[in-house]
Amino acid sequence: MSDAKTPEEHKKKLARAKINNALRDGRLKKPKHCSHCGATGKKLQFHHTSYSKTGKPKGRWLCASCHQKLTGNGKKNFKK
Ligand SMILES: [Zn+2]
Repeated sequence: MSDAKTPEEHKKKLARAKINNALRDGRLKKPKHCSHCGATGKKLQFHHTSYSKTGKPKGRWLCASCHQKLTGNGKKNFKK
């Protein structure tokens, strides 16, 4: 794809599309709460632990703040 900035970005883009497809087809279910803090009523984001092209998407559902903590500066303090 020519619109992808980097190969990594492209991979993430594909992975996100895969999540959306899986949700649409019912292969993947979006929980109602964050898998880390348990917050409900928040917009959940899928945090990928693997970007493999085949198989089921691997990762967990996190609210925006937990996702930020996990991927951003707070990474060191994030308990698994
Ligand atoms: Zn959370």
